[in-house]
Amino acid sequence: MSTYKNIDTALIHGGISTDERTGAVNVPIYQTSTYKQDGLGKMRGYEYSRTGNPTREALEALIAELENGYAGFAFGSGMAAATAVLSLLNTGDRVLISSNVYGGTFRVLDKVFNHFGITYTISDTTDLKAFEQSITPDVKAVMIESPANPLMTVTDIRAIAEISHRHDLLVIVDNTFMTPYLQKPLDLGADIVIHSATKYLGGHSDVVAGLAVVSTQELAQKLAFIQNSTGGVLPPFDSFLLIRGIKTLGVRIDRHVYNAEKSAEFLANNKAVRNVYYPGLENSQGYEINKAQAKNGGAMISFELYDNYDIRVFFESLKLISLAESLGGVESLVCHPSSMTHASIPYEIRRKVGITEGLIRLSVGIEDIEDILEDLQQAIDKSEVK
Ligand code: PLP
Repeated sequence: MSTYKNIDTALIHGGISTDERTGAVNVPIYQTSTYKQDGLGKMRGYEYSRTGNPTREALEALIAELENGYAGFAFGSGMAAATAVLSLLNTGDRVLISSNVYGGTFRVLDKVFNHFGITYTISDTTDLKAFEQSITPDVKAVMIESPANPLMTVTDIRAIAEISHRHDLLVIVDNTFMTPYLQKPLDLGADIVIHSATKYLGGHSDVVAGLAVVSTQELAQKLAFIQNSTGGVLPPFDSFLLIRGIKTLGVRIDRHVYNAEKSAEFLANNKAVRNVYYPGLENSQGYEINKAQAKNGGAMISFELYDNYDIRVFFESLKLISLAESLGGVESLVCHPSSMTHASIPYEIRRKVGITEGLIRLSVGIEDIEDILEDLQQAIDKSEVK
C-alpha cells in the first residue's frame, strides 16, 4: 500500500505526480465543476467534481499513502468526514464511543444519527474488560480517539481493535491529535481513520477540512458511494491548501512536540498548576501504551490551575497565546473545553468523565518556546486571587 519507505519523503511526494501537460511540480488547482465529454459515455476519467476532481484526488491518494490505507476521501470538514463514515451504519446499529471524544462527534450521534435509529453508548475504552462488556448484540462499530480530547486519555488501539474484531465491529479511529506522522491506527488494526484536517494536517489555521482513510477495497467502494451521494466534498482550492500544509507536517510536528514537552514540564513544575494531562509525561495515564503505539506524546496539553487562580483572568491576560476554538496550527491556542469544544456534551456527562469547569486546553504552537512559557507565566501571575 505504501510507496515510500520514509514518511518525510511521503509527505512531500505522496499522491503527487508531475503535471503531464506543463511539468508543474505542484498539483494544479482544477477549479472546475464539470468536464467536457468526447461523446456519449466517452469521459476522460472525470465527469463532475462532486464525483471526482484531480486536485482532491491527489490529496486523497496522499492521505491514503500516509496512513497506509487502501483509499482516502476528502470532505468539507472533520465532521463531514465523521458523518460520511457513520453513514456506513444502518438503522438499529449502535456505536461505542470513548468517554471523551470531541464534542461534535458526540453531538452528531446524539442529535442527528439518533433520528435515523443509530444509537451510541459511551464506553471507557481505557478499561478493556469494561469495554468488551459494553458490546451488546446491536453494537456494530467503535469510534475512538487516542489521545482523547480534552483529557489526553490514551486508549490501547491494538487491543481495542483485537477485541472489536472478535465481535465483528468496525473500528474507527479519529487520528486528528496525532496525525500519521506520530501514529498510524490502520497499522494497529483499525479499519478506518478520520481526521479533522483543519488541525495539524492543514497546520496554518486557514482551512476547514476532513479526511477519511479506509483499509479495504470493500470499505472504499461503500465510502466512495456515500461521499458522492451525500456530497460533502472538499473543494479544489482547499484540497490544494491541505496538500501544501501536509508537505511541512514533519518539521512542524517535530517543533510542536519539542515545545509541548517543554511546556508540559513547565506546567508540571508550576506551583499554580493542580493537574497536567499530557501523554508525554512519564506519570501520565497510558504513558507506556502511548509510547508503544505513537512516536511521542504529541503537542496537546490540558491542565487545571488551583482554585486560588481565576481562569477568566488567566484567559484575558494571555498576550501571545490566543483564546480560540481549534488546535494544531502554527500559533499557540488555548481553549476552555467545558464552555467551548465540549459544551455540547451535557454537564452531568462532562462531570462524570472529568471535563471540569477549570480545565484549560493548550495547543502548543511553534513559536519560540521562551515566549510561550513567558506568556503562560505572566497570565498565571495575573490570575492569582490574592
Ligand atoms: N475530531 C477532533 C478530535 C476535533 O478536535 C475536531 C474539531 O475540533 C473534529 C473532529 C471536527 O473537525 P472539524 O472542526 O474540521 O469539523
